[in-house]
Amino acid sequence: MARYTGAVCRQCRREGQKLFLKGERCYSDKCAIDRRSYAPGQHGQGRKKVSEYGLQLRAKQKAKRYYGVLESQFAKYYEMAARKAGMTGENLLQLLESRLDNVVYRLGLASSRAEARQLVLHGHYTVNGRRVNIPSFLVKEGDVVAVSEKSRQSDKFKAIIESCGARPVPMWLELDRDKLEAKILRMPNREEIDLDVEETLIVELYSK
Ligand code: SF4
Repeated sequence: MARYTGAVCRQCRREGQKLFLKGERCYSDKCAIDRRSYAPGQHGQGRKKVSEYGLQLRAKQKAKRYYGVLESQFAKYYEMAARKAGMTGENLLQLLESRLDNVVYRLGLASSRAEARQLVLHGHYTVNGRRVNIPSFLVKEGDVVAVSEKSRQSDKFKAIIESCGARPVPMWLELDRDKLEAKILRMPNREEIDLDVEETLIVELYSK
């Protein structure tokens, strides 16, 4: 599975905001955005004027990086979103939110989306009672996501859940902390998606 292998914090610095890509470190004073809140590179502190295309590109890059999705996969999500009824931008964010790795992260069952992806790949979660090891698996309303029986007993997993337990779970998910099981109540609306991006800019970019 292809993935970004460069310096992770550079992505946040490039977008000028925290994208929460590194788990616990993102909440500590070691966060690179808190230390150097300018774009990386030789001209990082000098770049000021951004064209319309530049704004659209940045919006797309930010969303891609936030969810840890590569270019071609992101374009496929856009196509799917455009085919659905309703607002394409909101559809796009809903699709990204419904990825299994994102749902696991939102539930506090992994410290970052990158860790969630890894844990999904290693088969630690089930959807409706069946083991699913595909991070891009799209959950739907009514699905039940759970930590697999065997994984619940592992010390490593217990530590992960303990460290992530304080994060609030969004309203569209219902988590039973004792059973480590959650139900997808509905898909999130735009207000419930905490990604600071103008999705209309992404739509404008792809509509060219
Ligand atoms: Fe981004 Fe987290 Fe790195 Fe901070 S620590 S720059 S939020 S990945």
